[in-house]
Amino acid sequence: RVVVVGGANMDLVAMAPKVPGPGETVVGTDFLTVAGGKGANLAIAAARAGGAATFLGAIGSDSFGVTLKARIAAAGVETSLVRVVYGASGVALVTVGATGEHSVVVTPGANTAFTTLTEAELSAVRAADVLVAQVEVPVETVTQAALAARAGGTRVILNAAPPGRLPTELLDAVDLLVVNEVEARALTGRGREDPAALLSLVPRAVLTLGAQGAWYGERDGGTAHIPAFKVDLVDSTGAGDAFTAALAVAWGEGRDLVDALRWASAAGAACARRLGASVSLPQRAEIDALFHG
Ligand code: ADP
Repeated sequence: RVVVVGGANMDLVAMAPKVPGPGETVVGTDFLTVAGGKGANLAIAAARAGGAATFLGAIGSDSFGVTLKARIAAAGVETSLVRVVYGASGVALVTVGATGEHSVVVTPGANTAFTTLTEAELSAVRAADVLVAQVEVPVETVTQAALAARAGGTRVILNAAPPGRLPTELLDAVDLLVVNEVEARALTGRGREDPAALLSLVPRAVLTLGAQGAWYGERDGGTAHIPAFKVDLVDSTGAGDAFTAALAVAWGEGRDLVDALRWASAAGAACARRLGASVSLPQRAEIDALFHG
């Protein structure tokens, strides 16, 4: 089982001829609501990849919260422990212009209130094979989850998104760090020119490099290049989440890490050939088809 600790947002997406400037109103063409936030996306991606996935996080007491939880559950994710916090859910207000330019306002809402884990939440973390955490919720909560995982023999994968520095106490509890180049730079000041800098923080790290695949390194071992699968790129949004979730599922199933990374690379590629963030997260059969070529 994979347990995900992280943020959930309702994405309110408006399509318009252009992104309005300050004080300007434009008439849009389409509107849709999508379950988002990296934590929710990772949990949905893990379920699609065939894993038994549990999401731990918080939604608000507003109608967005109800919809958000229902959407996450509909994807096959266990949501019975999701907290309902009085007030607004996390929301992302997205405007997409005709040429693909966009603007986003994120109000974290209930995600900010996801503090001190309950005994039931901690038990779920300890009982899992893999914990996947990211930091759209308070870093103290993520640290508490990682320490509980460690104590329970649960492997800890940390996706250091959104980019920023992280406390040593958290990094010390991480088995495997997964970052893209922006996140790597925020942590070490170094990108693809020196991915091994990540190994001063954690024992194992993955740097994802989009269509260039990924770098994998172990502090006490070697490094490996994980090649990308060739696909016709449509929209790489969500590829990182598909990659990290598939990695967690495969690693949790007992596959060796390099094999799990190659399968994760197929998941990222399968996501990149379709439009959208959560709707493009691939099913296990699609990942397998690409993986086995
Ligand atoms: P993020 O979405 O976090 O920026 P990346 O864009 O690095 O993450 O994508 C994560 C992984 O997904 C990559 O390491 C790669 O394996 C796969 N991937 C992403 N974009 C492509 C692409 N255009 N073609 C093939 N694989 C891709």
